[in-house]
Amino acid sequence: MSCSSVKYLSLMNKVLDQEATDQEKQQLFEHLASCDTCRIHFNELKESTELLRRLAHPQLPAVFTKTVLEQLPPEKRHVIRRWGSNHPVLTTMAICAVPMSLVMIGARRQVHGKNNYVLLKGLGDQT
Ligand SMILES: [Zn+2]
Repeated sequence: MSCSSVKYLSLMNKVLDQEATDQEKQQLFEHLASCDTCRIHFNELKESTELLRRLAHPQLPAVFTKTVLEQLPPEKRHVIRRWGSNHPVLTTMAICAVPMSLVMIGARRQVHGKNNYVLLKGLGDQT
């Protein structure tokens, strides 16, 4: 940047983070009107910020749900769609329950493993 004003750089970030006051916005845009370097830099920042926002909230294509539902047998399709929209919380819990139960099973196995070890050790001591 040939315009080395750090002030405007921090203003750009404030504006893009939507934390700038109206006065600060006006100050920045007035400078951007006269400074090519800052205007180009601001546009680049704006583009990357928008790109990041889009990545943070990926939009599934509108056809995604439709395609998945179409691959289900017709009678289940209708039931799942209706049940899922009537019970969004239960649907979320059901989806979360699968990995949770796998973790629980894994934890139980570890406890059993320890008990077996203790039992074997106890038997070994007797003989
Ligand atoms: Zn400038």
